Amino acid sequence: MNLHEFQAKSILRQYGVAVPRGYMAETIEQAKEIIQKLQAETNSEKCVVKAQIHAGGRGKGGGVKLANNYDEAFMHANNILGMQLITPQTGEQGKKVHKLLIEENVYQPGEVEPKEFYMGVLLDRGTGRNLIMASAEGGMNIEEVAEEHPDKIIKEWIDPSVGLQDFQARKVAFALGLEGNAFKEGVQFIKAIYKAYIEADASMVEINPMLRTSNNKILAADAKINLDDNALYRHPELEAMRDITEEDPFEVEAKASNLNYVKLDGNVGCMVNGAGLAMATMDIIKLSGGEPANFLDVGGGANAQTVEAGFRIILKDPNVKAILINIFGGIVRCDRVANGVVEAYKKIGNINIPIIVRLQGTNAEEAAKIIDTSGLKVASAVLLKDAANRVKDALV
Ligand code: GDP
Ligand code: MN
Repeated sequence: MNLHEFQAKSILRQYGVAVPRGYMAETIEQAKEIIQKLQAETNSEKCVVKAQIHAGGRGKGGGVKLANNYDEAFMHANNILGMQLITPQTGEQGKKVHKLLIEENVYQPGEVEPKEFYMGVLLDRGTGRNLIMASAEGGMNIEEVAEEHPDKIIKEWIDPSVGLQDFQARKVAFALGLEGNAFKEGVQFIKAIYKAYIEADASMVEINPMLRTSNNKILAADAKINLDDNALYRHPELEAMRDITEEDPFEVEAKASNLNYVKLDGNVGCMVNGAGLAMATMDIIKLSGGEPANFLDVGGGANAQTVEAGFRIILKDPNVKAILINIFGGIVRCDRVANGVVEAYKKIGNINIPIIVRLQGTNAEEAAKIIDTSGLKVASAVLLKDAANRVKDALV
């Protein structure tokens, strides 16, 4: 699950991570109040208006604007709220901005120039360990740095049996070139970020930029947190931060029906039990000349309700030209699934695309009979090869 920047910062604040003072606004009226409140609290005219969407690169897309006074802040808030923000991470259709974060400007001039760093924690699947990554080349172009100058990325792997050690946090802060008070704060910052990552069951925390201010303090000018969905049950307060307006509506509906669904761009919908079989089915669809429109694993206990829920979600996708149902009847009996398909089909009605059902395993033959005698536009196939050929026929 993804979080907004303002949510990530509120979590990090609880772990003692320094973040800029700021508030979230959902309407222009709220934005007005917040700008005034912030100006009073910080005794400064300047502030930053930031679009809150589940995608990075907002600065490049015009979703982060510095304001020198109230009028500028109001103008930026008015422009950004409701805009369709296109960034390198949103795709060309962009994302509508429903929320703003209005913050104090932390890039004030002073003793030294403010400097942007990069710092992140993520799970390195290659080593099976958490990895701290940092770079003195922080700011907007960290992806380019990683690609063109991988030597400028500092990496520190964490031994799971002992956790992050103090010397490791010092090593990273030193490698970043931090000195004096900034070094001391940097070490604490790294430790606090890591603790938040562990305790929130995050799969990624990314601070870009991590800022050294002009008075040698360290703070998180931006923050991104991804949470591990499988651990969300341990964090009801984090689960409550879910913003479904940011998620794919098909995926939200699938989640509500306990289906593992991922929307894709192809033309053949598929409904399968088991993730491995679902992957193999997507390969078969490709081999038969189609493109999968989704990944959908209905799980081990497929029944009429799950089949119906799956059908409804797949049918909402206008790109779908055929549906392939591929169920292996191990625990679940094929005849039961066949009845479920027929029932769901009749209940939904008005299905105008070919449906190919391949049921293999317990009671497969009875299942094929149920499908073939149902009088519906559903074709049965017992062998996967037949199913693939029928998908091919359906697409011409
Ligand atoms: P992202 O583009 O989605 O990663 O959004 P960021 O929060 O990282 O903002 C993009 C850029 O805006 C940062 O790299 C900073 O250079 C700049 N920025 C962010 N906050 C402030 C601020 O308080 N003051 C100023 N002057 N610039 C800021
Ligand atoms: Mn950023």
